[in-house]
Formats: sequence, C-alpha cells, structure tokens
Amino acid sequence: MFDKILISRCFLGDNVRYNNIVLTYVHPLIELWQQQKRFITICPEISGGLSVPREPAEIQQKTKEVRTKSGINVSAQFKFGAQQALTLCQQHNIRFALLKESSPSCGSTLIYDGSFSNNKVLGEGITSQLLTQHKIKVFSENTIERLEKLLDKAIC
Ligand code: SF4
Repeated sequence: MFDKILISRCFLGDNVRYNNIVLTYVHPLIELWQQQKRFITICPEISGGLSVPREPAEIQQKTKEVRTKSGINVSAQFKFGAQQALTLCQQHNIRFALLKESSPSCGSTLIYDGSFSNNKVLGEGITSQLLTQHKIKVFSENTIERLEKLLDKAIC
C-alpha cells in the first residue's frame, strides 16, 4: 500500500496563507502523488483557529512563544493546530510530512528569528517539532527528492 503524506495545504493552492496570497507549489512529484491519492492535507494555523488573512507570527527565540507582529501571543492556536496535524498522522498511519519551509508552523530547517526583520535561523516550526518528536519525518520543498527515495520502503 502507498505511504500517505501529510502536506501543507498552501502547497496545493488552498487560500490559507496569512497574507491572502495563493502560492501553489508546482512539481512533478506533487502531481504524481496527487494522482496516487497519497495526500492528507492540513494548514495547522487554520486548524488551530486562525483565519485568512491573519497577522504574521514568528517564534520568539528566547521564550519560544509564537507572537504576532503586534505582540499577540498565538502559541495556543499554533499548538492546537500542531496537535490536529499529529492526530491526522496517527489516524492515517503517516510516516512522512511535506511541509512549507520557514513557516512558524511548518518550517523544518529554517524559521524566522522572531524579530520580523526577515532574518532566518536554524529551527523548526511548532507543527514540525511535534511531528518530529513522534518520529514522523518532515520534508520541505527543498528536500522533496529525499522524500521520494523513502516512500513505500520499510525504514521505520
Ligand atoms: S501554516 Fe503551513 S499550511 Fe498553513 S499557510 Fe502556513 S505554511 Fe501553509
């Protein structure tokens, strides 16, 4: 049976991004995996109760809280969305996620540094952190080819 993949909804062109701008991720593997019906979709921030558009938010380096640019603490919404993502993975026996890099929810390698000045630091978003803690491997648009090599193989 094909491995299912948890995927960021914004990759598929859903209007879920904070700034109300749709950015579809076009890639032959996305098309193939769509045809194979592998995807289980989530936008953790929408599932966590936030709306479109919404204020940009970043993880604060010192406190690890997620705060919007105007200072509102949205950590609870981000954590709730991450929990929804984990629940979906557990319901569908998902071992792999393909999530948008640098998002404070979905980023898997780099995130913004909390200063809203476009600086990135090494780190994971809130959803990626939780999935990784539960041994779900998180990939991004930068590592999609690595994901392809692992699909449908008994590696866990
Ligand atoms: S939270 Fe994830 S799925 Fe939702 S818009 Fe941001 S990057 Fe895309």
